[in-house]
Amino acid sequence: MSEVLKMFIDGEWVEAGSGETREIINPANGDVIAVVTEGGEQDARKAIRAARKAFDEGEWPEMSAYDRANLLLKVADKLEERADEFARTDTLDNGKPLREAAFDAADAVACFRYYAGLATKPHGQTYDVADPMQAMVVREPVGVCGQITPWNYPLLMAVWKLAPALAAGNTVVFKPSEITPLSPIKLFEIFEEVGFPKGVCNLVLGPGPTAGNEIAGSHLVDKVAFTGGTETGRKIMQAATGNLKKISLELGGKSPNIVFADADFETAVDYALFAIYAGQGQVCSAGSRLLLEESIHDRFVERMVERAQKIKVGPGLEEGTEMGPLVSKEHMEKVLGYIQLGQEEGATLACGGKRMMHDGLNQGFFVEPTIFVDTRPDMRIVQEEIFGPVLVVQKFKDEQEAIRLANDTVYGLAGAVFTGDGAKAQRVIRKLRAGITWINTYHPTYNEAPWGGYKQSGIGRELGTYGFEEYTEVKQINVNLEVEPIGWFSE
Ligand code: NAD
Repeated sequence: MSEVLKMFIDGEWVEAGSGETREIINPANGDVIAVVTEGGEQDARKAIRAARKAFDEGEWPEMSAYDRANLLLKVADKLEERADEFARTDTLDNGKPLREAAFDAADAVACFRYYAGLATKPHGQTYDVADPMQAMVVREPVGVCGQITPWNYPLLMAVWKLAPALAAGNTVVFKPSEITPLSPIKLFEIFEEVGFPKGVCNLVLGPGPTAGNEIAGSHLVDKVAFTGGTETGRKIMQAATGNLKKISLELGGKSPNIVFADADFETAVDYALFAIYAGQGQVCSAGSRLLLEESIHDRFVERMVERAQKIKVGPGLEEGTEMGPLVSKEHMEKVLGYIQLGQEEGATLACGGKRMMHDGLNQGFFVEPTIFVDTRPDMRIVQEEIFGPVLVVQKFKDEQEAIRLANDTVYGLAGAVFTGDGAKAQRVIRKLRAGITWINTYHPTYNEAPWGGYKQSGIGRELGTYGFEEYTEVKQINVNLEVEPIGWFSE
């Protein structure tokens, strides 16, 4: 096997102190595609100390926003030059079709450019107050930011965190998912190449409960930003209490996609497929619950089944592939477990439901596009995040029932409404308890607009100016314009 890929700590590529390694698997065929060093608590501590030193004593805090922006622009250029390589890496590591990975790489480039631009834009405020005083606030970096990401968008989730944190002048300790570290490793090669000062950007590899927990718990870390499952989010929050560090959490979802009878039928079908099967359903904002108005239910399901069965499932690198494998054997088994559970709970499989073993797919982790009908709101397949190509269909009679069902989970990440009635669309969207919503579309995401959830889907926002502000502290400065004694106490 080829060389062991390393972590980047304090400006050096290093192996884990333990000497342990991990094999990285291509989920399309089970092949080992790389071996990486497997960090743990000790390595995370080393990275945290480096980031602390770089923030407290290094040249980075003195660097102007203009210079920081230039570094980010250089990262964007290098990333763009290597966009194909990054896309292929994410496809090999995560399984997603190449066209999706290419989209992620382009989006990552745009994200660095967006935050490079934002670094030098006005961020403060000034106030007219009662006294002869110049009152103002400035935004300053939070300090050392720990950042932990999942496997579903290996490159993009890293960039959503690293770009704003660096633009705002923080130092970072970044830990990707242990099963998809390859594009983050390449991104840190670019950080090294463009010349971030030593200790500013640190990459720790390794599992969540050890390396990740150390980052979330460390008293030397000022903020932890996490994207991943809701249960892990709870653990991160608990670990962060020791030094009351700032937290932002981007967690799971079970997002409703509501289709009224007056919607453009074929458009709604098309987006309903995209909502659940893009990324094999391993998308936090996936439209995993399809809420259909009673009068179109049967016809809509029939058309969905017809289209779902035609989706070309195969290895992500293969020409024409529309849906790839699930990320790992373990995750595939979890998804298949939910499909079995749905049947036990009394839901009906309208299509799919099985692992795909034909045409050479048997070495990979492929699951058929699956649709459940005859569901009840209390079923676990309706309430819990399956994170796979499994759609559950719910039926509603009127607007009120649609809203009630849509909001009836612990999650509140995303939601969509399809209707030809503009006023109804607005009414329903305004009632959805969710942070990301769409009318007559599903999934578009913009670097300019905030991303994040209500309820148990998260705390805080990523992207846009909101995402930048999450990486800043607000400092109030009051300048006395009449410098003379206050005379409060008698002499
Ligand atoms: P996960 O929660 O298992 O892992 C996410 C990251 O947390 C990984 O890097 C992992 O190593 C680390 N981790 C695990 N346990 C930890 C611990 N105790 N302490 C510190 N770190 C720990 O999630 P996953 O399976 O990689 O990803 C799927 C989940 O991510 C889904 O629930 C999905 O909805 C969510 N997600 C949310 C968003 C969003 O923006 N809201 C985006 C993508 C994915």
